[in-house]
Amino acid sequence: MARPTTAVIDTGALRHNLAQVRGRAPGSRVMAVVKADGYGHGLERVARSLAGADAFGVAALSDAERLRAAGVSQPILLLSGFDEPSDIGRMRALHVDSAIHHASQLEMLEQADPGELIGCWLKIDTGMHRLGFAPEHAREAHARLSAIPGVVGEIRLLNHFASSDEFDDSPSHGRQTREQMRIFQDTVAGLPGERSLANSAAVLGWPDAHADWVRAGGALYGMSVVEGRTGADFGLQPAMTFATRLIAINHIRKGERVGYSATWECPEDMPIGVAAIGYGDGYPRAAPSGTPMLVNGRRAPLVGRVSMDLVTIDLRGVPEARVGDPVTLWGPELPVETIALAAGTIGYELTCSITRRVRFVER
Ligand SMILES: *Cc1c(COP(=O)(O)O)cnc(C)c1O
Repeated sequence: MARPTTAVIDTGALRHNLAQVRGRAPGSRVMAVVKADGYGHGLERVARSLAGADAFGVAALSDAERLRAAGVSQPILLLSGFDEPSDIGRMRALHVDSAIHHASQLEMLEQADPGELIGCWLKIDTGMHRLGFAPEHAREAHARLSAIPGVVGEIRLLNHFASSDEFDDSPSHGRQTREQMRIFQDTVAGLPGERSLANSAAVLGWPDAHADWVRAGGALYGMSVVEGRTGADFGLQPAMTFATRLIAINHIRKGERVGYSATWECPEDMPIGVAAIGYGDGYPRAAPSGTPMLVNGRRAPLVGRVSMDLVTIDLRGVPEARVGDPVTLWGPELPVETIALAAGTIGYELTCSITRRVRFVER
């Protein structure tokens, strides 16, 4: 029998979430961010489902190649830009725009064949301190970029928020985002070109930052982008259901211990379910005993260590469970955020970590 571990992708949920993002930012165009294989949902599948997006954002040129090969005709932005001169020709051939965040990229462009036309988005570091020109160097970078004959069209202007998941709902909240918005405005004042500031959290919580383009990732997959909230709290639908089946049910005696390192002890004689999923599939090993799963749609806790191929489940609350019954690790009825919280991470990391042996199914 094939391993029953599946990631079911709800393409209707992806479309629903794009409509939600549009509804929240009605004056903006939407760049669908599909880096990391569409946050683990499958790049081509996501692009096909989100064919209504105005542009796509990727982190790897190879992903842009895959999108073009799949027939995507919208603009594509390489979010961290090119990193060697040979990329420029490839990007030109693929009509892929580049973020320009560093002087090394300006030098490469100045030395490139002027026939190599490329669209550019100038990235300004307004306080995230990851990528981008410092505000005091941004206008000079803009002038240099404008003078390069190979730069096609108007230069667009980009900012990335560090903590837009803190909404502007109290004076103590959102200070950094307000500051980043102010620095961006001051830096780009008077420059031509479209502006883009907002990630998913800013789409949901910072309407003043919507500008010409929003760049949404997590929200499109129905994930929460705000701590303590789920995607559903914002009207989003989780697009992924991670599921498997029970392959054994064993009756274990009180005082016996379950799994590697014997971390969990049975408090009474009880049924222990074994499901075909483990960290080799992308279920987090850090998930502790007590992390919820759904067996036949009913909550049952993980017990013992997550191993490579298997997990063990306390079935006392699901006495009717039988071998072959479905087990859901996360999905619309069990938010990935809940599992992420238990495992000390975020939903994004979990969906990005699903491994190649998992079968992807579309619904
Ligand atoms: C990943 C990324 C986004 C999307 O972020 P979400 O929080 O998933 O919406 C937007 N802009 C840039 C530059 C990114 O790297």
